[in-house]
Amino acid sequence: MTTWLIKGARACGGDPADILIHDGIIATPDGQGEAQVIDADGLIALPGLVDLHTHLREPGREDAETVETGTQAAALGGYTAVHAMANTDPVADTAGVVEQVWRLGRQAGHCDVQPVGAVTAGLQGARLAELGAMADSAARVRVFSDDGHCVSDARLMRRALEYVKAFDGVIAQHAQEPRLTEGAQMNEGEVSGRLGLAGWPAAAEESVIARDCLLAAHVGSALHVCHVSTAGSVEIIRWAKSKGWRVTAEVTPHHLLLTDDLVEGYDPVYKVNPPLRTKADVTALRNGLADGTIDCVATDHAPHPLEHKETEWETAAFGMTGLETALRVVQHAMVDTGLLGWADVADRMSLRPARIARLAGQGNQLEPGAPASLTLYDPTPREAVDPASHASKSRNSPFTGMVLPGRVVATFLRGEPTVLDGKLA
Ligand SMILES: [Zn+2]
Repeated sequence: MTTWLIKGARACGGDPADILIHDGIIATPDGQGEAQVIDADGLIALPGLVDLHTHLREPGREDAETVETGTQAAALGGYTAVHAMANTDPVADTAGVVEQVWRLGRQAGHCDVQPVGAVTAGLQGARLAELGAMADSAARVRVFSDDGHCVSDARLMRRALEYVKAFDGVIAQHAQEPRLTEGAQMNEGEVSGRLGLAGWPAAAEESVIARDCLLAAHVGSALHVCHVSTAGSVEIIRWAKSKGWRVTAEVTPHHLLLTDDLVEGYDPVYKVNPPLRTKADVTALRNGLADGTIDCVATDHAPHPLEHKETEWETAAFGMTGLETALRVVQHAMVDTGLLGWADVADRMSLRPARIARLAGQGNQLEPGAPASLTLYDPTPREAVDPASHASKSRNSPFTGMVLPGRVVATFLRGEPTVLDGKLA
């Protein structure tokens, strides 16, 4: 294995120092022999990013994304681990399917792929999937989610929360009361009223989060709330945490930056579930992430082929790509605004997501002895986002043409470069 000497990187935004990578581990930078040198003057070093919420689409929708292209996109975005959501075809609801996804990830080798198991068989919301078999499989599943659907049956949600306690698992809920969002096309509010589109009330998300916090407390289990999108949701999670309950939450980059008035042009690139909300919601989400109420940033990278997005608003698919822009958006929305420092970014995008997912070997501080999974990031360039240059198979980025700061220069996975000089290694 090549020994690497990263010269003058600012680890988590601190003072410039050298980082030596030897045998896949961060070593003490003295008395090293032959090493490949990377000039990291002005670059920030962060522990490899960990995404809790990625749609890799394989098996079943390889026209939108594959494990190969999705993990390339992840590496280019600075990620060393992603959690592959279960809403594939077939659904990842058995040991067989989660092991297939896990193996595809290992073969691709661009980052670790940790499958998420479905909570209910076929995402149908009727009976529990084989949670124990998935936990015991080679993929060692610990995060379970019906994402795309809400586990709306309270009794089933309670049983799922009880079941995963046996192996220290967590239920990640897509909180959305289905009866309140039937036919919904965007956030319910002033803009939806003006456009005449069916609205999606904040209460549809908040009521499920409140119920699930109470259920998690009642059975003493761990709840993770996916893609929090409203100010009220932040308030409820803050309350649940103040009680000492085992509740964690994520926010997406797009909900930290974009608002529902973008829907006025009826461009389906802004159609997403949960929907873009208001300026007040964005402010509350940013503050919630800054004060730790929201634990982490998760991309909800949701690739779709052109024909499912370049169509009329009503028929277009929900979802946005995000792996290759997440860190840049977080710099723009959180760091350049003074809400987070780089050590906080490491916490919200690597350490905490790894801890929530019980993911060993990821989300470590950049210290001697730790696995050398890290990313080198240049915060100075400002460039327009161009999805044509992305590795993702899909082009549905809501940030297209937007000038954002930053560039991922290099990513290392256990001492092996997956990205060098901004390109796949
Ligand atoms: Zn979701």
